[in-house]
Amino acid sequence: MTTTEQRLDQLRGPVPPVPHNARTIAALTTNPACSRRAVMDSAGVDKRRVAARVGFPPPYGQSPFTITRTRAFEGQVKANGCAELLRMLREVLDLSIPEVAYHDLEEAGGNTSPEVRHALARRIIQAAPQAGGTLFDHPLLRLPVGGRQVFLEPDLIAFRYEGTFYIVEIKSFAVIDGQADGGKVAAAAVQSAVYVIALRRLLEDLGEDPGRVSHDVVLVNPENFSNHAVATKVDVRRQLTVLERQLARMKRIDTLLEPLDEELTFDLVPDRDGSPTRPESELRSALGHIPARYSPDCLAMCELSYFCRDEARGTTHALGRSVSEELGSVEWIDTALALAGGRLAPSPEQHEAAGVLRAALRLRNECFGLPA
Ligand code: SF4
Repeated sequence: MTTTEQRLDQLRGPVPPVPHNARTIAALTTNPACSRRAVMDSAGVDKRRVAARVGFPPPYGQSPFTITRTRAFEGQVKANGCAELLRMLREVLDLSIPEVAYHDLEEAGGNTSPEVRHALARRIIQAAPQAGGTLFDHPLLRLPVGGRQVFLEPDLIAFRYEGTFYIVEIKSFAVIDGQADGGKVAAAAVQSAVYVIALRRLLEDLGEDPGRVSHDVVLVNPENFSNHAVATKVDVRRQLTVLERQLARMKRIDTLLEPLDEELTFDLVPDRDGSPTRPESELRSALGHIPARYSPDCLAMCELSYFCRDEARGTTHALGRSVSEELGSVEWIDTALALAGGRLAPSPEQHEAAGVLRAALRLRNECFGLPA
């Protein structure tokens, strides 16, 4: 019998899996109805390379410049035993912290396996004294997603002070005159909320009170085009509620795998130089085997978005979540137009949507001074 792990390995092909991080979990929960993303992410398929191979390379991603800048900024904030970070934490959390202990959990004695790193994070967090302050740098956390435990590539510092944990995230986007890009702050808040949930689950596992992880997270950013760092406290209670709900709604991965052909794979069959040799048509057909649920939100968060947008052309859900919710069982834009113009008699399930569409067309005609 083929296990779930073996099926996921088969889907990915003989390459290391792309690890999850808070950004991928946040994206997954933004579109929980999309089986394609859920399956490919569970298998650790490199969606960026698959999208490029089928002719729709993703238009975004962190540039090498941004990655270098983020690393340099992170290094500066953590220099001298996190002295600058500590100063900011004192201010933003209004705490009197003379000094703190520091644990770097990025690797476990040279062992980089996620299981070993996670076990180390558990052990160190459990053993740390309740009193005083402790910084845990890069703890590898775990979260059940679709009925399967996934490791979260850590991008954070967990700070415990007198028993309460705070998630601290260092980001390279700037705060200018006290204002940061709203979209970037919102994305960072969702990602921090993912870590809050994962850390709460860890405390639960350890028999500790998960409520000890604060819903206030700390974002650290450069200020005013300089490298001077500034910390901001962000309340992520709303994001936590949404994420918890979406994680609970996600289907189990074995249920999603069940109807798929056991031979299905996204193996790019790289040549000796690592360039994919798998025919584009085969890869397109493999993608077509897993149902997707494209919506315009995908453009900001999924590497396959240009491919899925092209595939969804002509459907009502390509127009966005609110339109597709309003139109219910009207799947195609052509059908919607025919119902609105009275050229098509609605089926019983389309009755309500047809009324909305006719009213919308009447309104539009009134606005443009056209005959009703
Ligand atoms: S872009 Fe495609 S695969 Fe990605 S979430 Fe949207 S529909 Fe799913």
